[in-house]
Amino acid sequence: MKIDILTLFPEMFLPLKTSIIGRAQDNGLININLINYRDYSQDRLKHVDDTPYGGGAGMVIKPEPIYDAYKDIKDHESAKVIYMSPKGKLFNQEKAKELSKEDHLIILCGHYEGVDERIIEEIVDEEISIGDYVLTGGELPAMCIVDAIARNIPNVLSDDSTIDESFSNGLLEYPQYTRPEIFDGRKVPEILLSRRSC
Ligand code: SAM
Repeated sequence: MKIDILTLFPEMFLPLKTSIIGRAQDNGLININLINYRDYSQDRLKHVDDTPYGGGAGMVIKPEPIYDAYKDIKDHESAKVIYMSPKGKLFNQEKAKELSKEDHLIILCGHYEGVDERIIEEIVDEEISIGDYVLTGGELPAMCIVDAIARNIPNVLSDDSTIDESFSNGLLEYPQYTRPEIFDGRKVPEILLSRRSC
């Protein structure tokens, strides 16, 4: 799967280079590209935001740099474009599984007061929220969904971890234990003692 992330802060995405998601990239199972749409600003000082029409606090991100960055992505017409937004549909495990079947995702991260509505109308297929609270930008939400999507891509996890984990069957996973058998006076449930995998 190819994932292009449109952001003003590519340096925030270090977590995706580590652990399981980092290995998935090294193994060619996912290809994550970070695109700074500030690079597409036509402004001499590389500004990407301006004051909102109608007044109100904060700055709104202009449509042109995002649009030019989007058009520069190879095969952008066939990609599914997601805008991270607190107004979007709440993300869950079912959506993670559904999106893991896509070949190409483009994820747009807003910042400040968000992005000009016309860029959403022009390029976005789906708005996704990671919870009913407001964050500073779409970068942390994008990392959350990329992580959840990636672990559902075949061979990203080396075992059957996704089969009976929380939310996979509408249930939460059972409590897990490992060695030692007794920790601080707390014993592993008897029923599990004969069933530990090596
Ligand atoms: N003015 C917007 C509002 O009231 O709905 C909030 C903008 S927020 C400060 C800036 C950016 O952070 C948004 O454009 C979005 O990309 C991202 N963001 C913030 N909270 C989010 C959430 N819960 N889920 C997904 N993205 C979020």
